[in-house]
Amino acid sequence: MIASLLAAAAITIPCGLFTLRVDSVAPGVYAAYQAEPFPSMFYLQGNTTIVVGANDAVVVDAGASPAAGRCLVEAVKRVTPNPVRYLVNTHWHGDHTLGNQAFVDAFPGVQIIASAKTRDGETGDGWKNAMDLARSTATRKEQGAQLLAGAQSAAPADRDSIVAMLHRYYDHDLDVRQADYRGLRLTPPTRIVDSALTLQSGNRTIRIYSIGKGDAPGTLVVYLPKERVLASADLVVAPVPFGYTQDPMGWRETLARIDSLPFRVLIPGHGDPRYDHAYVRRLERLVDTVIAEARRAVREGRPADSVSAQFDARALARPFTGGSPTLQFFFEQYFLEPFSRGSYAALKDALGRSTASRRAVKPSAASVAHRRRAAASSVYRGDSRIIGRSRSNSTGAAGMSTSDVSGL
Ligand SMILES: [Zn+2]
Repeated sequence: MIASLLAAAAITIPCGLFTLRVDSVAPGVYAAYQAEPFPSMFYLQGNTTIVVGANDAVVVDAGASPAAGRCLVEAVKRVTPNPVRYLVNTHWHGDHTLGNQAFVDAFPGVQIIASAKTRDGETGDGWKNAMDLARSTATRKEQGAQLLAGAQSAAPADRDSIVAMLHRYYDHDLDVRQADYRGLRLTPPTRIVDSALTLQSGNRTIRIYSIGKGDAPGTLVVYLPKERVLASADLVVAPVPFGYTQDPMGWRETLARIDSLPFRVLIPGHGDPRYDHAYVRRLERLVDTVIAEARRAVREGRPADSVSAQFDARALARPFTGGSPTLQFFFEQYFLEPFSRGSYAALKDALGRSTASRRAVKPSAASVAHRRRAAASSVYRGDSRIIGRSRSNSTGAAGMSTSDVSGL
């Protein structure tokens, strides 16, 4: 009921490759997100949260490109005349950070807050990946051809929508994206927060902190304790989860920690806001199911491939996909395959350690291979996990503590 009333007040803004939808989720708090994740989910746009303070505003994540960032700046201006004083980068992936420069251009003096690992990712692999795409789309188009060939084996009822979605991305969206990336400037974080920071503006309290492990190292979440709004970054993604974590058990514990927060609104890293705990719990059950199967496979000495093969993937995915063929495609590519492999590798490592008595044990070949695949996950993510930086290279105040900043 509340959700539908809020939905009626939604603003939509055309942003080139996607439409941005802006929902009011609490007084002065907005979720800005890709309205329709399909058919262009290969162009992933991370969610943004806008928090309006007394005289300023705080924005969480900057969108997937300079153009997306400009669109988000417009969204901010639609909901408040206040300037953005702080921009949080929850993690380094490009779908959340490549819009940084638009905020720097629109709001001179804006500080970009992130962890040291996020800064390193933005200036390292993220920037390299972004520049690779800006220079050439050849490898991506090759990957697209492979995915298209693979899609031919899908059931006839599913094939058309998957093929159309792949064609749209590889024949059109990718070129638009490349043109956009050519205008990128490296715009890294300017204030480093590794553990926690609280911003206070009048009655508004904004907690920025690390809640655990998940999709990217050094991830920060943002929580408004009074409004009970949580921006979870990609620790929770909807409508299908990401399963690329390098620490499956750590992610599971993190999900439990998120579930234990008394949030009323969850703004996931992707997908529409959730107004209860149902989605997180569904995700916890899914993760438990796959980990249990991976554990069985390790105990029985089966190969890693056997984990995902044990499932009826369609039945497993249905609570997340509602039967959509394209969502099914992404469920398998983004979650089931990588998470099955990752869980298997982690459990095999753990078993190796427990049986190798006190000897130091090297990570198993399966674990090393999984980590490599996780690092190269942009293959499946349509390369959206890239980064931005600016020419300015201001350094952050390292080790800021809770309540380090007061007044927005
Ligand atoms: Zn993301």
